[in-house]
Amino acid sequence: MQPTDRSRQQQHIMARARRVVIKVGSAIMTTANGLNLGFIKELTDNLAALARSGREVVLVSSGAIAAGFKKIGLPAKPRAIPQKQAVAAIGQSTMMQQYEQAFDRHGLKVAQILLTRNDLANRRRYLNARNTLFTLLNWKIIPIINENDTVVVEEIQFGDNDNLSALISSLVQADLLIILTDIDGLYDQDPRQHPEARLIPLVEHIDVRLERAASRQPGVIGSGGMFSKIQAAKKAASVGIPTIIAHGLKPNIIEQLFAGAEDGTLFLSNVTKLRSRQYWLAYTTNPAGDIVVDDGARQVLRYKGKSLLPAGIVGINGRFSAGAAVRLVDTAGEIIGIGLSNYSSQDLACIKGLKTCNIQDSLGYKGYDEVVHRDNMVIFSESRTLTQGEG
Ligand code: GLU
Repeated sequence: MQPTDRSRQQQHIMARARRVVIKVGSAIMTTANGLNLGFIKELTDNLAALARSGREVVLVSSGAIAAGFKKIGLPAKPRAIPQKQAVAAIGQSTMMQQYEQAFDRHGLKVAQILLTRNDLANRRRYLNARNTLFTLLNWKIIPIINENDTVVVEEIQFGDNDNLSALISSLVQADLLIILTDIDGLYDQDPRQHPEARLIPLVEHIDVRLERAASRQPGVIGSGGMFSKIQAAKKAASVGIPTIIAHGLKPNIIEQLFAGAEDGTLFLSNVTKLRSRQYWLAYTTNPAGDIVVDDGARQVLRYKGKSLLPAGIVGINGRFSAGAAVRLVDTAGEIIGIGLSNYSSQDLACIKGLKTCNIQDSLGYKGYDEVVHRDNMVIFSESRTLTQGEG
C-alpha cells in the first residue's frame, strides 16, 4: 500500500471519530524523578481541544506504579506484589491530582475509574460500568481509567493496560483507539536490536507474521511491550475499531494525528462495528463449551449472517446449560464466533444434525428453531485457532 492510502484512510477515520479512547503508557507518563508533568500538560491540552471539537474522550492511563515508586524514592519498580500494590496506591492518587489540575485549566472535570477483569466478565457488572461511563460522557466529564492495581491478584488482572484499553474501546463502542507509547509504532523487526528496522505505517490485517515482528520484550518501565499493543489493536479491529499506535512524546501528537500527520502505525478494521451485546459476547464472556459445525453451517454463519440450526451441528464439547455462552467452531477447530446457546449440551447431543421440525420428536419439547440466534452471536472476521480459555 502507498502512503497516500494511509492518509486517505486516516482522514476518513479521524473525520468520523466522535468517541475516542486514548491509552498512555507508564514510560511516557514518568521521567527519572516521577510524573512527566510536561507530557501531562501537553496531553491534556490536546484532549481538551478534542473535547471542544465535540468529541468524547476516554483516557486509559498507566503510570500509577511508576509514579508511586519514584515518589517514595525506590530505585526501581518493586517486584513483590504487596509492594507493587502499595506503590500503585501512592502513585494513583498523585497521578489523578495532576490530571485534575491539568484538565481544570480547560474548565474540564475528570472522574477516576479503577477496574478489574471481573468487573467486565459479569454481564450485570459490565452493563453497570458501561452505564457509568456513558453518564460521565453525557456530563462532559473525562473518565480516566486504570487497572485497580492495589487489589488485583493474578487471576483477575487484565494483564496490561493495552488489553484494558481494547476492552474499554469495545465497552464504550469507540470509533478509534490511540495507544501512545515510547516507540514510534510497529516495525518490521525489533528496532532496539535491528537499526535497519522499518516502521509499518498501515496495517490492514494483523497476521501471524506481524505478531512475530512485534517484540514481546516490554520496556524497562511499561509492562506490555509491542506484542500486547498488537493484541489490543487486533481485539479492537475484530469489533470494528481502528487503532493508532504512536510515540507519545512527539510534540502534540494527538493534535497532529487529527490534523493528518502520518505518525505511528494505523491498524484498520474491516468489519462493521458490533452492537453492544455482541461486544460483550466477543470479549468478556467465558465460553462454557463448543458447538462444532459442518462446512455448510460455517459458510452460512460467516458469510450470510444467519442463525445456527441443529442440522449444521456435528459435535458438542463440554457441558453447559441453556443460555450459556459457547464457542462456534468448525471441524478443523477454528473459532468462527461466540454465541448464547438456546439448548443445553445434553439436549444438543440429541438434536444435532436433525431438521428443525424434528426437535419436538427428539426432545419432547421445542423451545426454539434456532440453536443460536443470530442476534445472540458474534462472528469473528478472521479465523482464530481454538485455544483453551480464549474468548
Ligand atoms: N496499571 C499499571 C500502572 O498504572 C500499568 C499497567 C501497564 O503498564 O500496562 O502503573
